[in-house]
Amino acid sequence: MSTDYSRSVLLGGRAAGVTNGALLARLRNSRVHLSAEAHLPGSVETLRVLVCNLRRWPIQLSVDPGSRTQQLDQDLLEELTAAAAGIDPDRPLRIGPVHGEALHLHVGTRPPADASVAGVPDGHGVRLRHRGHRFPRLNAAGTGLGAVLAAATLTGEAFKTVAGLPAGTFVRRPVLDFCPVLPGEQPGLATASLPRLDRVLLGGCGAIGTGIASILGLLRATGELAVVDKEVFEDPNVTSYSIGTRADAAARAPKVDLIATHLTQIDVIPVQGTIQDYIERVDAGAVPWPRLVLGGLDSVEARHDLQRLHADLTLDGSTGGPAGTTLALHEALPTGPCLRCYFTADHTAPSAEQRLHQATGLPLQRIARGEQPLTEADLEGLTDEQRQTVAPLVGKPVCGLINLIGLTGEPGDTYRPSAAFVAQQAACLVTGAWIARSSGLVTGPMRRIEYDVRFGPRPDQMTDERLPSPGCGCQTDTRLISRIRATRGAVRQARGL
Ligand SMILES: [Zn+2]
Repeated sequence: MSTDYSRSVLLGGRAAGVTNGALLARLRNSRVHLSAEAHLPGSVETLRVLVCNLRRWPIQLSVDPGSRTQQLDQDLLEELTAAAAGIDPDRPLRIGPVHGEALHLHVGTRPPADASVAGVPDGHGVRLRHRGHRFPRLNAAGTGLGAVLAAATLTGEAFKTVAGLPAGTFVRRPVLDFCPVLPGEQPGLATASLPRLDRVLLGGCGAIGTGIASILGLLRATGELAVVDKEVFEDPNVTSYSIGTRADAAARAPKVDLIATHLTQIDVIPVQGTIQDYIERVDAGAVPWPRLVLGGLDSVEARHDLQRLHADLTLDGSTGGPAGTTLALHEALPTGPCLRCYFTADHTAPSAEQRLHQATGLPLQRIARGEQPLTEADLEGLTDEQRQTVAPLVGKPVCGLINLIGLTGEPGDTYRPSAAFVAQQAACLVTGAWIARSSGLVTGPMRRIEYDVRFGPRPDQMTDERLPSPGCGCQTDTRLISRIRATRGAVRQARGL
């Protein structure tokens, strides 16, 4: 079996407005070439993440080994080759000069003349320059957070070109400076480090959760981290998560174990289960009641469960939008705004079955017999247009059509457009907010920060200060919430957690 590119192709196809087949052909013909200045702090980490991000597309990928003083270490080149092969053994990373036309990305401040764009971490942030624009002096040594952000931002620039986004649907900003700890300030000014992990829970080990884990690893975080997720790691995750290989997918490793294995310097408490399972263990005194919750969940219901932990602070990361290119951070408190204030349950939205009915004209009674394969007879009574959509799917079970024709967005529907480089930017906002709040660099109202990778972060227009919603449970049930918090605090102390 070959590497499953379905999720990244779905995201690219939607953003480019072309069929998945057309995008796949375009990606296979695209060449991306990388070079790096290994002596700059954080640049090797940036290159590592960048190679893996780009290997998550079926493009042709090469790395320049450099020459003389700028030569990349042989061990590093072997490590990069192995990391790429872990994602797609059939598309080996090529080491050497580029042949033919390629998009050249450079990690560092002195790009070669043929590089289109260069990026580098500056402290916890990123600086990016297109050809012809010089870098200023860097303020600080690049950190692991800055490295992931630099790699994700460079990947975003490559995405615009290799996916062939139509004019008007994206912006190429020749100069980009961004710090996820202090949005609006120059990168490298905020140098506070991540505190030691103490009573922290990572809720959800998907695209965003593995992005957060990847940053924690590169920041060399220490302490104790509880992680909860009910699922196992599977093939489609290889091209949309920041951690995990084809071998991990073949072994169907629980996602929580994948993160525990990756974070060797942290005491990870893996809990394979739902958020509700974790809450029950908290109340039984079996696991620590978290003070801080980092959320990387993809459904409204799971977010509401996460809020029921009533932790001191919840930092929720999300990705979404029609093409999956939008990402956001939601800061939440037990006293409000809580995650219920941000995410209201929508009971009026049509179900996946109803949307399949609208998209195909297939009767709801027929859709209810989901396991039975679609037959020619089912096409009778459909319009020509509906027939065109449905005819290629004859022979497949009806329930599978919801995924095949991309009717996504329902709870429980796992076929969403998703890409590691988008989720990593959400993870950077979450980690940046954590550093900012724990060090007192940011105080005051809870924030919602959101941007679209096609346009990049815009510090002047991406942040809303959020007030609690008047009718929300966090406002109407304040006494109940403080009683639950007091009880959990007492259980925790009694158990010494
Ligand atoms: Zn609320």
